[in-house]
Amino acid sequence: MQLPYAEPFKIKMVETIKRSTRQEREEWIKQAKYNLFNLKSEQVFVDLLTDSGTGAMSDKQWSELMLGDESYAGASSYYKMKNAIKNILGFDYFLPTHQGRAAENVLFSVLVKENDIVPGNSHFDTTKGHIEFRKASAVDCTIDEAFNTTIHHDFKGNIDLNKLEKVLTDHQAARIPMIIVTITCNSSGGQPVSMQNLKDVYAMAKKFGILVVFDSARFAENAYFIKKREPGYQDKSIKEIVKEMFSYADAMTMSSKKDAIVNMGGFIGFRDDDLFKKASVFTIIYEGFITYGGMSGRDMNALAQGLDEGTEFPYLESRVEQVAYLGSRLREFGVPTQEPFGGHAIFVDAKRFLPNLPKEHFVAQTLAIELYLEGGVRGVEIGAILADRDPKTRQNRFPELELLRLALPRRTYTNNHMDYVAVALANVYNRRNEITSGVRILKEAPIMRHFTVELERI
Ligand SMILES: *Cc1c(COP(=O)(O)O)cnc(C)c1O
Repeated sequence: MQLPYAEPFKIKMVETIKRSTRQEREEWIKQAKYNLFNLKSEQVFVDLLTDSGTGAMSDKQWSELMLGDESYAGASSYYKMKNAIKNILGFDYFLPTHQGRAAENVLFSVLVKENDIVPGNSHFDTTKGHIEFRKASAVDCTIDEAFNTTIHHDFKGNIDLNKLEKVLTDHQAARIPMIIVTITCNSSGGQPVSMQNLKDVYAMAKKFGILVVFDSARFAENAYFIKKREPGYQDKSIKEIVKEMFSYADAMTMSSKKDAIVNMGGFIGFRDDDLFKKASVFTIIYEGFITYGGMSGRDMNALAQGLDEGTEFPYLESRVEQVAYLGSRLREFGVPTQEPFGGHAIFVDAKRFLPNLPKEHFVAQTLAIELYLEGGVRGVEIGAILADRDPKTRQNRFPELELLRLALPRRTYTNNHMDYVAVALANVYNRRNEITSGVRILKEAPIMRHFTVELERI
């Protein structure tokens, strides 16, 4: 028999989590204005809100914290991080930032101007936020297959080259400062981009003289999928694949809270000295001196170690296969999900789950609330609330997909937790016909409203 994959680690320290009663949860979610971001973590049993900064660091990473060099300038921790970025990702220049969106803020302060157009594959919400905040627009060129959860495609994060070429050709009057490729593509379901697609996008960008920037939060999970699914990569190591992937980028932004397995941190990688120098000015304004940019020395050390651990095959296998385990349990119960399963999360298709709920009732948010009430499991809405209003018309945007995302923190939960989550969601599924109304908005922020929105039951 083939031996099953098993976690390539054992547990050295544990943190207690508590179960609650349905009655308690009814009260708590009401107090939270039906926004799961407003819940206290102690009111949650299994927290799948995000995989961002919620992973478990290794003993080696914790040891690195003790070796942190907190010098203001030129700390050894800065050089440790610089070496890791050079060795693993291949970038000569980098700037630390306090997290991924700070990397976007610094880089886009140089690159993005009013009326610019930035094509990409379903830009992440903070990325789109930073583009629209500068009165520029993000154009989604993801392949159509990504938007149909019933179609199987190995690389649903891919950019449609015809759509991209059309944008590049049609908008020659507008400035296009860069193409952003998000690996893996968070908004379309943690779906990978193939090596061939990365190569083709880069070739097209060069033809038009445009920069390619990778939004790289889950680059290692992307490399794992390339190894598993793309012909010619089976025998390559993750680190070899990662190197080749980044050879098709001019720069990168990174939220280290994902695949670098730290609780806080980010950076920008550059090939070009000139762009690095221009961005350095904004790092100093927004983040801090260029050798720490919003990070402590100890955190830079843990990040460097995390980049190495996060690009090891046994770790990635247990990580991605745990996500698939949750997905397959849900499939057994008939719960409709986005397939193939993504690298960091399972995306439940809320429209297929609750087909009779009108979109104005915020279908995925309603499902997130129901799952919390059922089992104290916290997921997150990726749907109309996250999509914000159209910046020009101020109308609600209703995206094609209404998803409930269940994101798995790295090295944090066991498969027993996955079973618990699957049964909780199956229970909601079995009483789905009783769910006939959702929520309406009471208060919202003008941009990125999902974090603070206040809702009431209809
Ligand atoms: C998380 C994330 C970001 C933003 O990073 P933060 O560290 O949360 O600021 C940007 N892009 C993608 C694809 C992400 O997943």
